[in-house]
Amino acid sequence: MSDPFATLGFTRSRLLRHSSEQPEEAVPPRDAPGALAVALVADRVVLKGATALLALGTDLAGIAEATAPIYLGTLAGSPVFAFALPDAPAFEADPYRTLDLRSIATEGAVPPDEMGLLATAKSMLDWHARHGFCARCGTPTAMRAGGFRRECPACGAHHFPRTDPVVIMLVRRGDTCLLGRGAHFREGMYSCLAGFLEPGETIEAAVAREVFEETRVRVAGVRYHASQPWPFPSSLMIGCIAEGLDAAIVTDPAELADARWFDREAVLRMLEGRHPEGIHAPPPMAIAHTLMRAFLDGA
Ligand SMILES: [Zn+2]
Repeated sequence: MSDPFATLGFTRSRLLRHSSEQPEEAVPPRDAPGALAVALVADRVVLKGATALLALGTDLAGIAEATAPIYLGTLAGSPVFAFALPDAPAFEADPYRTLDLRSIATEGAVPPDEMGLLATAKSMLDWHARHGFCARCGTPTAMRAGGFRRECPACGAHHFPRTDPVVIMLVRRGDTCLLGRGAHFREGMYSCLAGFLEPGETIEAAVAREVFEETRVRVAGVRYHASQPWPFPSSLMIGCIAEGLDAAIVTDPAELADARWFDREAVLRMLEGRHPEGIHAPPPMAIAHTLMRAFLDGA
């Protein structure tokens, strides 16, 4: 059996986060020797050949001077900064190109150990773009700690980048598992059920609530399996496996176009893209795929 985590997108990183290094305010200068950069143009990442890691001093020379970067940490001792560029025609010609992060993950356009770093960069840049004002008093806030905090000069409030937890679960019952398709899914794709955790809710309760809301199936024995950053813009997918107590499915049409119990043979065919009805699973980079593999492996 191959390692099911090997293909899971956004989980691998060599980045040493600066929150685990020296005092968080110690941000190196952007002209530090060997400084690296990742750059986003709107929601597209700048790639140079098969990497998203740019040399700040040369690849971004004359392009990013007016942009305040986020300091992500270090890679083998070199500082890494993330930039949001308003417009970058220089990156539309060889050896550069731009590609959205989902496609980068699906296509494997950069080494897997760059994906965790890109997830951090994308979520951080998005948070700053949407949090320029104090949530308490409305005053414009200022970036601190290399971008890992914003401070309000009027009321003194500190604001921190957030991660939004989502539960995603494979519900099994005997030799079958419950998969559904949302109305917005690509044609033929079935996946694990999922939903946002609500404030004050445990992971176990959220799994049970979401499954019941969407299918009227009750669950027990919720167990954590694996997690995956999902930077669209800042979710953490918490992958669980649970035991279904009811066979009958009543789908909520507001949430799902369909939901069914699939046996092991059907799941295997979905993962391998050879289901006779053309039904298929999410790609290997998605945690739903990992959960479906775990079901087949008897996890
Ligand atoms: Zn304030």
